[in-house]
Amino acid sequence: VHPTAVRRPYPIVVQSEATSYSDEYITSKFTNRGADVVVNNGQFIVTPTSKPYEFQTARKVAKTGLMLVGMGGNNGSTLCATILANRHNISWHTKSGIQQPNYIGSLLRASTVRLGVDPSTGKDVHVPVSDVLPMVHPNDLVLGGWDISGLPMDEAMKRSQVLDWDLQRQVAPYVAELGKPLPSIYYPDFIAANQEARADNVIPGKDKQAHLEHIRADIRKFKQDNGLDRVVVFWTANTERYSDIIPGVNDTADNVLASIKTSHSEVSPSTLFAVAAILEGEPFVNGAPQNTFVPGVIELAEREKSFIGGDDLKSGQTKLKSVFAEFLVNAGIKPLSIASYNHLGNNDGHNLSAEPQFKSKEISKSSVVDDMVASNALLFKPPQEGAAKGSKEAKGEHPDHIVVIKYVPAVGDSKRAIDEYYSEIFCGGRSTINIFNECEDSLLATPLILDLTILTELLTRVQYRDASGSAEFAPLYPVLSLLSYMLKAPLVKPGTDVINSLNRQRNALESFLKACIGLEANNDLLLETRIW
Ligand code: NAD
Repeated sequence: VHPTAVRRPYPIVVQSEATSYSDEYITSKFTNRGADVVVNNGQFIVTPTSKPYEFQTARKVAKTGLMLVGMGGNNGSTLCATILANRHNISWHTKSGIQQPNYIGSLLRASTVRLGVDPSTGKDVHVPVSDVLPMVHPNDLVLGGWDISGLPMDEAMKRSQVLDWDLQRQVAPYVAELGKPLPSIYYPDFIAANQEARADNVIPGKDKQAHLEHIRADIRKFKQDNGLDRVVVFWTANTERYSDIIPGVNDTADNVLASIKTSHSEVSPSTLFAVAAILEGEPFVNGAPQNTFVPGVIELAEREKSFIGGDDLKSGQTKLKSVFAEFLVNAGIKPLSIASYNHLGNNDGHNLSAEPQFKSKEISKSSVVDDMVASNALLFKPPQEGAAKGSKEAKGEHPDHIVVIKYVPAVGDSKRAIDEYYSEIFCGGRSTINIFNECEDSLLATPLILDLTILTELLTRVQYRDASGSAEFAPLYPVLSLLSYMLKAPLVKPGTDVINSLNRQRNALESFLKACIGLEANNDLLLETRIW
């Protein structure tokens, strides 16, 4: 059995007065350290800050269901089949030998965290990220969901053409037990017209309030039928076009709810699913790029204290870009242009060949270098105050950045991505770096869906309190920006900065998990190795 599939009892004991354990909770004390900086006549006045908090994590992992919207698609069917292959320990023949199932590509199950040093050897000790706090094992997720295509799940897996034939053959009887996805909401205007032929499994009528209630009832029934404590609703359906943000329609929680009642045309299927999950008190994650989370939905999540996360899985090209652009800028090299081309031949690519759906993807892929650029005023002139509105100076300097996506049926799920980074180097020199990236798209996406689901469930069990007073423990803020590592266009608390850098995203996540068990954030100072 591959180590990523191994289930372990919770293995960490922190011996410190900052950490305490009961049957129910792990409780930790944490000091949030930072610095306030005031710029005064070109001088930076820095005041270190520190604030005490406590975290409390419920130890009992929820019995968790994962309801996929778009269950019969490439990601949905690949996820179901690979979980079942892992659960039933099915190995299969490929042309290079026997392949075991595993969870490679999952940050939680296939990567590690440095806990500290073994004093007897002086060597670092690492543990799987999934060992830091009690987490759901992916094999234990109860699977269900919806699709506008009514193909039974074993047939859907075949249609996707992702998995090796010998695996498909063996796992098919288990996948078939999942039956047919539940009928879903189909508003043709939101996805490409070329998807119409798939839509044979739709909830009848045009009444959006009735559709909302239908989906809420589906979530409740799934939860009850399977004896679940928690259901994560996950959008892995087609990319929709953007919804127009219209004052009075979707700008506030009450307006969104009222617009659903009147079946307003700008309420998308994904927004209805998000609202259904929020009102059921279950988390909703958006794995596609459209603006499901219109301002009114975010306000509704805040009001209902229900968790949301998104947008768009960061699987291939953008993941690399969020590392590469940071590498260049942090190396003091100035990217002048980033040109990204993709072609793919799966149904996602077919849907994205329509302009409005491409636009959603283009927006989510485009903002990924913004924070790196904004962090370095030596290379990129920041926006000038007082410059003419809309002028280059008012916007600030930025590399040219284009994204092209083309549908090439022959390559199927095996996406190709080509990126050219053209940069200014020392004293007027130029550097061009080209990257060619080829990968089975759904095999990159599936572990991300698992990580997002498992982290989301965990974050619903973590509470915090401001330890400077006598505040009660309270849940985290509803927009789960700690999920950013897996997302192309991370949704964050309104008014706070988006972090795109993959390193910073990972550091935040690791530091948070460690804080919950009373350990200091990551620190590569390693002072003992620098001094006598
Ligand atoms: P896919 O086209 O194979 O699957 C989407 C499924 O959603 C289809 O089965 C379709 O019938 C269904 N669907 C469409 N509208 C629906 C609705 N309203 N309700 C229920 N089901 C609906 O696509 P995929 O390759 O599985 O990708 C899924 C989504 O994930 C896409 O939006 C894609 O852009 C996004 N995504 C994928 C990756 C990746 O690496 N695979 C990365 C980032 C984002």
